[in-house]
Amino acid sequence: MTIVEDVRIKTGFIYPHSASFRLLSVNAEIIAIGSELLTPFRQDTNSLYLTEKLNQLGVEVVLKTVVGDSRERLVSVAQHALFRSDIVIFMGGLGPTEDDLTREAVAEALGVELHRDPEILKKLEQRFAARGYQMTPNNAQQADVIAGATVLPNPNGSAPGQWITGHYEGRDRLIILLPGPPFELKAMFDEQCTERLRAKLPPAYIATRVLKVAMMGESLVDSRVAPIYKRYTDVQTTILAGAGDVQFNLFTRAASMEEAQQRVDELAGEIEDELEDAVYSSKGESLEQIAGYYLGMRGATLAVAESCTGGLLAERVTSISGSSRYFLGGVVVYSNALKTKFADVPAGLITQHGAVSREVAAALAEGIRKRCKATFGIGITGVAGPAGGTEEKPVGLVYIALASEDRTQVEERKFPGDRKRVRWFATQLALDMIRRKLM
Ligand code: AMP
Ligand code: MG
Repeated sequence: MTIVEDVRIKTGFIYPHSASFRLLSVNAEIIAIGSELLTPFRQDTNSLYLTEKLNQLGVEVVLKTVVGDSRERLVSVAQHALFRSDIVIFMGGLGPTEDDLTREAVAEALGVELHRDPEILKKLEQRFAARGYQMTPNNAQQADVIAGATVLPNPNGSAPGQWITGHYEGRDRLIILLPGPPFELKAMFDEQCTERLRAKLPPAYIATRVLKVAMMGESLVDSRVAPIYKRYTDVQTTILAGAGDVQFNLFTRAASMEEAQQRVDELAGEIEDELEDAVYSSKGESLEQIAGYYLGMRGATLAVAESCTGGLLAERVTSISGSSRYFLGGVVVYSNALKTKFADVPAGLITQHGAVSREVAAALAEGIRKRCKATFGIGITGVAGPAGGTEEKPVGLVYIALASEDRTQVEERKFPGDRKRVRWFATQLALDMIRRKLM
């Protein structure tokens, strides 16, 4: 085995008596291996799956690396990972081909030997024979086992996984090698790693909360909320921003479930107090779910007349099971003629103000509300772009109207972004208008 010359971290892996081995802390690092993961054509999805499963066990993922099929880089990545993380999961590169180097590289990083396991070799041969194939010699490397490893059988493929516990540089380490193909990895992790891992971890209880905020920019939301979540150093707060949507994921670990739950609830409560009615969901529901919930609760009905969103609002509303209780239907009226024909927008109004105008949005909402005999009508008209903008009516300009029996409210916005984002923003605001009206 060749040892890379400029190894900064000297190896020295000592195996403990596996039955008594317990990890004291619970940080994990995931290493995705494969040159195809560094092309635009394939993404590392396995780590998303593993992160969710690890979080459920109370393990926090602190680092992820994607590395190509290069032995030198793999050894280097492995050494750094072993130095800094309690649990190191390698996935991919366990197959039979030249570029499958994970076993060798991990053994090298640990400074231990690989040996060819006759049991695994026999199983591989049987697997080929059962399918009527001749096993080519390169397949034999799948029987190479890192000294001291427990072999994890692979019911869905040929390459087994490996499980290694020990001390690296004097610290407790758990190392897991998993196959790359997602269906093999998932089955192996669920069936053979979850319970094994739980037994090695200190008892921990995880509580999570998801808060969602509509129609507020990420920087504005964060400037108001950061001073709050920074005080909760025991709660991990991550922010996901989308078009017209900011999501906070709260995650904590504690010695009892009550304590964990109390901490995320406290933080969620403080965030909700700060942002008031901008928070539309505290359990992860979508905006269409919440708008539908309010419509249903109030026994109200909705009809829509959409121009620039082309039915996206109706699509979002009807994506919710049970929406027939409150959604009557509507029209997609792209041309001026159809705005008049199906939503009773006076032709003169369009001539006078233009199709993209406050007046036409209001007329669309009122027209469709009356036609459908709905409690509420929504009208949307705008310039989604990228073509069709003028100085007076630029790309992104959208009018959204909400008509009820006694009044019609119209919002004017200049949404940023491409056609897809402008259309999404428009439906997001429309749903939020319904929510705020009924809250
Ligand atoms: P390997 O175990 O390296 O032979 O990987 C086999 C196949 O699994 C690859 O060609 C990919 O299609 C897939 N794969 C490997 N790693 C990942 C990953 N991290 N996420 C999703 N797919 C992967
Ligand atoms: Mg590969």
